[in-house]
Amino acid sequence: MKYISTRGDATERHFCDILLEGLAPDGGLYLPMHYPQVDAATLARWRGLPYAELAFEILSLYIDDIPAADLKALVKRTYTKDVFGTDAIVPLKKLENGVYLEALSNGPTLAFKDMAMQLLGNLFEYELERRGETLNILGATSGDTGSAAEYAMRGKHGVRVFMLSPNGRMSPFQQAQMFSLQDENIHNIAIEGVFDDCQDIVKAVSNDLAFKREQRIGTVNSINWARLLAQVVYYFAGYFQATKSNDERVSFAVPSGNFGNICAGHIARMMGLPIERLVLATNENDVLDEFFRTGRYRVRGSAETHETSSPSMDISKASNFERFVFDLLGRDTGRTRELFAAKVAHEGGFALSQDEFARIEGFGFVSGKSTHAERVATIRDTWQRFGTMIDTHTADGLKVARERHANGVPILVLETALPAKFAETIREALGRDPERPAELADLEQRPKRFTVMAADAAQVKRYIGEHCRD
Ligand SMILES: *Cc1c(COP(=O)(O)O)cnc(C)c1O
Repeated sequence: MKYISTRGDATERHFCDILLEGLAPDGGLYLPMHYPQVDAATLARWRGLPYAELAFEILSLYIDDIPAADLKALVKRTYTKDVFGTDAIVPLKKLENGVYLEALSNGPTLAFKDMAMQLLGNLFEYELERRGETLNILGATSGDTGSAAEYAMRGKHGVRVFMLSPNGRMSPFQQAQMFSLQDENIHNIAIEGVFDDCQDIVKAVSNDLAFKREQRIGTVNSINWARLLAQVVYYFAGYFQATKSNDERVSFAVPSGNFGNICAGHIARMMGLPIERLVLATNENDVLDEFFRTGRYRVRGSAETHETSSPSMDISKASNFERFVFDLLGRDTGRTRELFAAKVAHEGGFALSQDEFARIEGFGFVSGKSTHAERVATIRDTWQRFGTMIDTHTADGLKVARERHANGVPILVLETALPAKFAETIREALGRDPERPAELADLEQRPKRFTVMAADAAQVKRYIGEHCRD
């Protein structure tokens, strides 16, 4: 399998060439040249495979430059009961007829990002060792990406992490989770600004190609192709658990921010997984909901980006979105470049033509949004009726799933975090503290290790320069 850029750079790259990369050199995102098609016989063979074996089968379709035995060992080491809590890895919980939660949040940081990041940690270590190289990972996080990356990379040979987060804008639990790590290869940098300021700094540093090369800068943000690929697996795993035969269809509801999670669902669907609808849920930051309702994509500024009680979805633009638009436009690199390199960059957004907008239905996408009051009500209702405690992001997904599911088709709501991470809203909804794993009881009391910095790419570069060598 070879990879290309959404903006037309046609240099043929293999999986391991792009594994350690962020954006393509032309500013686009990497995608495989085509989506392997999964036929009925293959689906039948995959049904009932343990999670790690299913992951190996799917990954093998996209990775041809790691020997099969090595890839298999690596995947088996990643998806274990020890790390993810159950043999099923992503067990389904039935709420009521036709409505399920798919539990993706039982990894070390209690959010679904562990699903991809734990694999990435092992892939990075493997590939760097093979090349005899080291890597300095630079990332931006509004909470869950950062902790997932740090827990995946801590203590890994040849890797250092420099993680930017918006100072004071994460929940105390999320902050403590990251800042309490004492591993020498982990650097927490708290930026005085919002998440998008952090993301802009990562982009500015990555666009300085000389610095990037010299300091061996890499990324683990959600634009990383390997992360998307790892996420494709749990759409298949959820489908097999919710159905008895491959003639059945299901829908997925996905709490969305940077469009990474649901982009993996799009890819699963393009491969032939019988997905009826991909239901995209946003919070008050509704840039994606607006797009799927109107065909207009309008990036928000910092002032228009709301701080909400589902903070991992507080985005003003969606960094993976270009991948879907590229497919929507029939992989027209010229038009994709026009929309993203010209219109998004200089006019702050774009509007699809009527003809282009009409194609969305064929891709299964529908959308909706959820507000603070609605997520609180959903958390309360789910607790009272089913005895199940859900987090704020999952609540957004469930709320929109109820509005936008297809009649008669089961819907799987992706559980993207555990309630323990968002205690304040749980107390508001339920008048009690969320459950929390016993080993994390004293998390907020542990010593913290972090550096506060202005939203200034030059300062961040200086810090990296001073700390990226032994
Ligand atoms: C990252 C995150 C999301 C959003 O996922 P995207 O891939 O950015 O769309 C939703 N919920 C939680 C809890 C997250 O951590």
